[in-house]
Amino acid sequence: MLLFQDRSRILLRFADLVEKHSEELAALETWNNGKPHEQSAKSELPLLVRLFHYYAGWADKIHGLTVPADGPHHVQTLHEPIGVAGQIIPWNFPLIMFAWKVGPALACGNTIVLKTAEQTPLTALYVAKLFHEAGLPPGVLNVVSGYGPTAGAPLASHMDVDKVAFTGSTETGKVVLELAARSNLKPVTLELGGKSPFIVCEDADVDKAVELAHFALFFNQGQCCCAGSRTYVHECVYEEFLEKAKARALRRVVGDPFKKGVEQGPQFEKVLRYIRAGKESKATLECGGDRLGNKGCFIQPTVFSNVTDDMLIGQDEIFGPVQSILKFKQVSIDLGCR
Ligand code: ADP
Repeated sequence: MLLFQDRSRILLRFADLVEKHSEELAALETWNNGKPHEQSAKSELPLLVRLFHYYAGWADKIHGLTVPADGPHHVQTLHEPIGVAGQIIPWNFPLIMFAWKVGPALACGNTIVLKTAEQTPLTALYVAKLFHEAGLPPGVLNVVSGYGPTAGAPLASHMDVDKVAFTGSTETGKVVLELAARSNLKPVTLELGGKSPFIVCEDADVDKAVELAHFALFFNQGQCCCAGSRTYVHECVYEEFLEKAKARALRRVVGDPFKKGVEQGPQFEKVLRYIRAGKESKATLECGGDRLGNKGCFIQPTVFSNVTDDMLIGQDEIFGPVQSILKFKQVSIDLGCR
């Protein structure tokens, strides 16, 4: 096994190599996923470097405890690597997901089999090569490209995999948990989907709230598990908020993700299906609601108002540039007391 300081040094060297290759990695990430190049280059690559600096610092700080005991006993705890970590990641942040999975597992001395999402295999393969250049011995980090049922499922059910870390949809998370349980009962960590509320109260600074709610939903093309995808607005500021939110969505720049100033790249089928469901419900389409132009796979930034909790667009994770605005009168907090 690699010593603490070796692991730390390799992670630091890797971070330096990522920094050195950040230009081509940012471009490759945009080819990989379609996200704006400015976002890949200015936010995600610098974050990737910082994350690996952070995890490098962990490698020699994983301490056990000496536990006070009554009598002539010595009690201590020891943290050990778990063994082979199976990791399955999604396509919305291919490099950042890679970092969040690989960094901690390597810092703690595990070996890894990581499966990328079938849509976005490129950058993980590139950085795996950089890990070898940084001195990671062959076999410690293994990257597999493939589909869920044929590459992900065998990993989750493998008898020699000691733990699975999964990020993706709630439905697939349930499958992974079941496969782990039915094989060797390996522990599983899950990071699944969401439908987070963004609440605008009556005393809010409306301009600020509009901008924050817009970012909460539209950042990364709406493809975030923590996106603020239910925008609840108090009835006193509802009309003003609506007008301004619509104006902000109409200003969003969509198109070729390599072009300067573009905030939103391509995405298509699944999002359009949800937009159709929104149109068929009693929600009001305020703007967008269709494909942008007739070239490429771009979607107009879309805002629905009068959304209610029982609608499909108020419940499902759309994972796209579709803002659902719901009106409320009163925030009632259920403290669980009787
Ligand atoms: P999303 O809807 O965000 O694409 P998925 O849950 O389908 O989310 O995919 C996330 C990851 O899970 C991907 O790497 C995908 O290949 C993988 N995956 C999909 N189906 C399975 C499965 N049955 N078993 C294991 N992994 C799977």
